[in-house]
Amino acid sequence: MTAGERDPRRALPSVDHLLREEAVREWVDRWGRSPVASAIRQTLREARERLSAGTLDTPPGEERLLATVGERLRESGRPAFRAVINGTGVILHTNLGRAPLPPAAVEAVRRTAPGYSNLEYDLRRGERGSRHVHCAELLRELTRAEAALVVNNNAAAVSLVVNEFARGRPVVVSRGELVEIGGSFRIPEMVERSGARLRAVGTTNRTRLSDYREALNEGAGLLLKVHPSNYRVEGFTASVGLRELVGLARRSSVPLLHDLGSGLLRPELLEGFPPEPSPGTSLRAGVDLVTWSGDKLLGGPQAGVILGTASALDRLRTNPLLRAVRVDKTTLAALEATLRLYRSSRAAAEVPALRMLREAASEVERRAREARGALEASVADRVRVREMEARVGGGAFPGHAIGSAGWEVSGDPERLERCCRGSDPPLIGRIEDGGFLIDFRTVLPGEEELVARAVTAALRGGA
Ligand SMILES: *Cc1c(COP(=O)(O)O)cnc(C)c1O
Repeated sequence: MTAGERDPRRALPSVDHLLREEAVREWVDRWGRSPVASAIRQTLREARERLSAGTLDTPPGEERLLATVGERLRESGRPAFRAVINGTGVILHTNLGRAPLPPAAVEAVRRTAPGYSNLEYDLRRGERGSRHVHCAELLRELTRAEAALVVNNNAAAVSLVVNEFARGRPVVVSRGELVEIGGSFRIPEMVERSGARLRAVGTTNRTRLSDYREALNEGAGLLLKVHPSNYRVEGFTASVGLRELVGLARRSSVPLLHDLGSGLLRPELLEGFPPEPSPGTSLRAGVDLVTWSGDKLLGGPQAGVILGTASALDRLRTNPLLRAVRVDKTTLAALEATLRLYRSSRAAAEVPALRMLREAASEVERRAREARGALEASVADRVRVREMEARVGGGAFPGHAIGSAGWEVSGDPERLERCCRGSDPPLIGRIEDGGFLIDFRTVLPGEEELVARAVTAALRGGA
């Protein structure tokens, strides 16, 4: 800035001046003085900074400033954690909360959470009880396990088992199974942080029974088999079958943990998908302990389920770490309701994740076509219904594409994606082959009009 030129920052109004504006006085009544003043200050600071940096030539007028303040107030009034519409076609999308809860699970939370519950109270005896009994009976019935225990999530389940059985001792794992799940759950680090030592055997693509045998004879505390959930090793591979591992573990008197990841309770409900071990089949093969997630293929709340022999689970119940990973009451309510759907054979229809996985591609396409009718007429010709490929997500069935259908929206895909993400509720789509896509397999019934509204606004050049 040259001498004599007036500093444009000085043309900006003061906080007090803006606070006296008619519209602002209404906001103060609604939101309170402090949040409004803070939004004004932030808006003025931003304008000053942009003027200094030269990204703004002239000071914005009062009207423009107040519009920004209003937008800021509306934004801060919204909860940070919000519902979004999943148009990505990834059914168990970890970033979008994995499995949507079955209505029966939401109802169970509504029934128990607003008041007190028998979380740790034995109603029959009238004395202190345990939170760990609530889902245990149902899990035993559904899987024929001897005993069951629910913790916060599957990572906690694996960590607890490793800590209990292998503290200070080796955990034997095939090199081909030293995986990273979801960017923050790495088997090697998790094993060591749980107080055990990792003893990797074999090579990435081939592990034989003899590799395990040697390692087990070196004082191992646990034999761990990790189900390859979000990756596949292809080509020249060899791995040891579950029954052989069971035999070896028994002969070496080392407990065997099978980390299933997805935990598909009823494989027959997912016909046409690659085979996936169920907790029941794994236990019947003779595995001592099985762990899996509540919010993957089971389609319930975030939880970690541990099944196994009564003696193994008795040990886990006395581990002090159980207190650190104990499951919350709302989770127990939702999980019990979800498990009851499996018992009553209503899971296929009433567990949203399963319903989405099973829906015929023709039906998804029919919904996508019908929803097109809710678009504003002026933009309808920029939306084309086409086939696409959905994914299971959550690490289950890697590489398995599900025939699906949805909208391809024509226009700048980055801009469309940003506009839809900024709508209320946010609509999350995906960019593929330079186009912006909304996959209707993951759009829940009843959300079609919201999708149409968001896309209409994006196409009309909204923010
Ligand atoms: C997903 C997964 C985990 C982690 O489960 P969370 O419930 O997300 O903690 C652990 N092991 C395997 C094999 C998995 O697929």
